[in-house]
Amino acid sequence: MNAGRSDTGRRLRIALSKGRIFDETLPLFDAAGIRPSEDPEKSRKLILPGSEADVEFLIVRASDVPTYVQHGGADLGVVGKDVLMEHGAEGVLEPLDLKIARCRLMVAGFPETDLSTSRRFRVATKYTDCARRHFARMGRQVEIIKLYGSMELAPLVGLSELIVDVVDTGSTLKANGLVPLEHISHISSRLIVNRASMKIRHARISEIVDRIADAVNAVNAVRPSPDGS
Ligand code: AMP
Repeated sequence: MNAGRSDTGRRLRIALSKGRIFDETLPLFDAAGIRPSEDPEKSRKLILPGSEADVEFLIVRASDVPTYVQHGGADLGVVGKDVLMEHGAEGVLEPLDLKIARCRLMVAGFPETDLSTSRRFRVATKYTDCARRHFARMGRQVEIIKLYGSMELAPLVGLSELIVDVVDTGSTLKANGLVPLEHISHISSRLIVNRASMKIRHARISEIVDRIADAVNAVNAVRPSPDGS
């Protein structure tokens, strides 16, 4: 799909995924005066009208948000930086850090694992590109094993020695006898915008971005971030 075709008359489409990011995004969108008119957790519809007539929401899988936005299926989207880094962020604009759903992308494994040895570790992860880049940067040879979930299981059954996953409180790692070993990146959710849409609908999109930015600043003025950013 080409967002550059003359469909400026249609509604502005915002791609969101259900769950953690959606719950934390809603108050920010509320402050910007845009919200879905139905609860996506209760609706089976994939396109939800917005409270403002010129906006609608697309409910997609988190890992599909950058794809919809890059190819013009959606004009805007909200996505975790982890998903964006794995997708490759070049195809979209990333005007705003929403500073929500914060966590860290980490290398984890058993506490006794010595990363300084020259052995070729096996690394289970759904973040294969991020992991490959990280270990290449560290000058370490690894074998990457692609998984789609429950990465913590892999070391427990000998599938890998290491995992690369997002860590919030660390309690999932701890419950499985694992510890964080190396920090890769701070993660938070980002507002992303299709490049062509930003040109064609610049005034409306800028207005929305500015209003959401004000809401982010207001929230963080009273709640300083844990990493001081
Ligand atoms: P925790 O036990 O709090 O460290 O949470 C770890 C698990 O929750 C991970 O395995 C992730 O699947 C998930 N998780 C935590 N934070 C996030 C986030 N911000 N975005 C997506 N998934 C997350």
